[in-house]
Amino acid sequence: MNIFSGLEKIVETNYPLARHTWYGLGGPADYFIRPETVEQLQKIVQRCNENNIRIYVMGFGSNLLISDDGLRAAAIKLEAEKFSQTKFDGEQLTAWAGAELNKLVLDCVQKGLSGIEALTGIPGSVGGAVTMNAGGNFGDIGAAAETVTLMDSGGNIFEKSKPELMFDYRRTNITTKFILNARLKLAAADPEQIIRTVKEIWIYKKNNQPLNTRNCGCIFKNPRGVSAGAMIDRAGLKGLQIGGAIVSNKHANFIIAQKGCKSRDVIRLIEAIKERVKEQFGIELELEIEIWN
Ligand SMILES: Cc1cc2nc3c(=O)[nH]c(=O)nc-3n(C[C@H](O)[C@H](O)[C@H](O)COP(=O)(O)OP(=O)(O)OC[C@H]3O[C@@H](n4cnc5c(N)ncnc54)[C@H](O)[C@@H]3O)c2cc1C
Repeated sequence: MNIFSGLEKIVETNYPLARHTWYGLGGPADYFIRPETVEQLQKIVQRCNENNIRIYVMGFGSNLLISDDGLRAAAIKLEAEKFSQTKFDGEQLTAWAGAELNKLVLDCVQKGLSGIEALTGIPGSVGGAVTMNAGGNFGDIGAAAETVTLMDSGGNIFEKSKPELMFDYRRTNITTKFILNARLKLAAADPEQIIRTVKEIWIYKKNNQPLNTRNCGCIFKNPRGVSAGAMIDRAGLKGLQIGGAIVSNKHANFIIAQKGCKSRDVIRLIEAIKERVKEQFGIELELEIEIWN
C-alpha cells in the first residue's frame, strides 16, 4: 500500500527543493509535503514514523543549503492558508508558522503597532524566524514572542510560554519538531516613528548587503563580540571564488551563488573560509545557515 494513501493531494515525490530555497540550490526530496490542516499534518507525521522516514520542516528556505544529492526524507512545508493565518487582537498578534515576516511588519506599521520592526528585510516565515530567533542590530523576534504553539513528533500539540521559552543570539530552547504559531506582544506607537525605523533598517540593509543576488544571508554566526564578516574581510577573502560560489564584495559574511553554482561549491567555500579564519585569528567560525543532506 502507498505510504501516504489518502493524502496523495498534498504529497509530491522526488521533488526538486531548490525552487523553495533562496539559494535555488539542492537536489530533490523523496517526499515534499504541504499539509492543509493540522489533522493532515498529524497523519503525515504518523505515516512517516511508521515508515521510518526522516522529517525536515521547511520555512521559506532563506537559511538553508540543501545538498546536491537532495534528501532521502520528507520535507514538510507549512504554507497552506491555515498555516499562514495572522490574527490581531488589540496589541497581541497570533501568527502561524507560514506567515511572511515582511508582510507582518507592514501590517503592524499600518495598525500603528511596534515590536517587530527589527524583522524588516528578513525574508523568512514566522516558523523559521522563531527557530532562528531572527533579527539583528535592531532587535529580534524573541523580544516580542510570548507563547508558541508546538507539535511534537508524536502529533501532540501544546504551548510553551516565557519564561520557560527562551531566546538567545540566533537560537531558542525549542526542541519540538513543529512550531505551529507564535503569539507576539506588540505595543501601540506612533506610526510615523515605526515607518522611520522600518525605512532606516531598509536603507542600512541596502547599503550593507548584496541584495538582488542569490544568497542565504549571513553564513556564519558572529563569535562573541566579534563580527564574522569583519574577520573574513580582514583575512582578505572578499571575492574568493570556488566554482560558482563567491564571497560577496559588499558583505564578507555573504556567499553568493552565481550561475551554474552547486551546493558543493558553497560548502567548499565555507570550508576554505573557516580554515583561513582559524589560521589567522584562531577562531572557529560556527555556521548560522543550516546544511541539509
Ligand atoms: C537576503 C537575506 C537576508 C537575511 N537577513 C537576516 C537577518 O538580518 N537576520 C537574521 O536573523 N536572518 C537573516 N537571514 C536568514 C533567514 O532569513 C532567517 O534565518 C529566517 O528566519 C529563516 O526563515 P525561513 O522561513 O526561511 O526558514 P528556513 O530557512 O526554511 O528554515 C530555517 C530553520 O527553521 C526551521 N523551521 C522553519 N519553519 C519551521 C516550523 N514551522 N517549525 C519548526 N521549525 C521550522 C527549519 O527546520 C530550519 O531549522 C537572511 C537571509 C537572506 C536570504
